[in-house]
Amino acid sequence: MSVDALASQTITVLGATGSIGVSTLDVIGRHPDKFRVFALTANSSVKKLAEQCVQFNPVYAVLRDESAAERLRELLSDRDCSTEVLAGEQALCQVAADAAVDTVMAAIVGGAGLMPTLAAVKAGKKVLLANKEALVMAGQLFMEAVNTSGATLLPIDSEHNAMFQCLPGEAHGNDETKGVRKLLLTGSGGPFRTWSAGQIAAATPEQACKHPNWAMGKKISVDSATLMNKGLEFIEAKWLFTMPPPNIEVLIHPQSVIHSMVEYVDGSVLAQLGHPDMRTPIAHALAWPERIASGVAALDFLAMGDLSFEQPDMARFPALSLAITAASSSSSDAIVLNAANEVAVEAFLQQRIGFTDINCLLADILSSANHGEPENIEAVLDVDAHARRLAYRWLECRPSSVALV
Ligand code: NAD
Ligand code: MG
Repeated sequence: MSVDALASQTITVLGATGSIGVSTLDVIGRHPDKFRVFALTANSSVKKLAEQCVQFNPVYAVLRDESAAERLRELLSDRDCSTEVLAGEQALCQVAADAAVDTVMAAIVGGAGLMPTLAAVKAGKKVLLANKEALVMAGQLFMEAVNTSGATLLPIDSEHNAMFQCLPGEAHGNDETKGVRKLLLTGSGGPFRTWSAGQIAAATPEQACKHPNWAMGKKISVDSATLMNKGLEFIEAKWLFTMPPPNIEVLIHPQSVIHSMVEYVDGSVLAQLGHPDMRTPIAHALAWPERIASGVAALDFLAMGDLSFEQPDMARFPALSLAITAASSSSSDAIVLNAANEVAVEAFLQQRIGFTDINCLLADILSSANHGEPENIEAVLDVDAHARRLAYRWLECRPSSVALV
């Protein structure tokens, strides 16, 4: 992409009101000469979306349902804003694939992001992928769609963005001629890294959402506390970089300064470092292959202190182990794991189950699910829906001895 193309990127932000969406608009707002906002979307945060529409005046705003869309129309009616308000999944797909759009930030959380993200991919857009669940669910089909359409897929997850920066240009991870041996996927270990199993069992949603280094949405915060986030990222890395699971290693690095590394056959290890602020990977992907300012300060190495590394503890954090196993088994296992996890995290946040019940639910649903290879996206959605039904049934019938928070 030339600097001229960068000068006129037109962008849709899916999930504009979330943590990644807000950081994306922060970076875009710093470069009004380089980016134009085409569409902003949200689930139900009408007020926040109204403020963003007034600031960026997109052509479209999309909400999940018609009643939220009507509220947004009312809020915008007396403001200086010509945005047309739409509703529903089809509208999300439409603003992701519109011919006027160059770039799509895919930052809806969970499986709800799959179809709009895939619509952007199929339309051959430059897709900035934060919505890791979409890739976990549909890995093979998703990457085939990228190859067929010629879409440019750029990872936003800080770890994968770091690996992308450390990998040789245009090469896939398993390209032996490039000498890549291993991806070192780092993670902070989450808020319960040093907690005993007993303490973890009694953890509350508030404690789980209090990440030591990153400020994020609630779902990914709980995933970071169970280490399921690292597990989803393991599967994400496998698909993004065509890397066999044995060549991906999870490394706990509590300071979150190194965002991931790539090991080469000659003994070199390349790392990407920076503050734990998502505006860095967002700015990197927005401007790629150029660079733009993100608002994030440079690291101060003298003030930083020590960097340390540990092995993940699979006994206290079994969700990571389940995800790594799923990465090597059928595609359905990853879909089931993701779907069951979404239901479990929601139930935990609503205080319907305890923290460690998340792991019990995941293990039970995985063992009762089938293990096929979905051949198309409808089959992926079927496996997902079935796993969610099993998970809801698990919640209804769970053992009465389960400790509630
Ligand atoms: P968030 O909860 O803060 O925001 C989610 C966004 O998606 C919101 O705009 C919300 O309105 C929208 N949304 C939610 N449900 C929806 C639905 N059913 N239909 C349409 N829109 C819906 O989440 P987040 O932390 O910004 O994370 C977004 C994605 O980025 C996740 O997949 C997460 O794993 C990934 N990610 C986040 C971070 C981070 O630092 N927050 C880092 C790496 C990856
Ligand atoms: Mg990450």
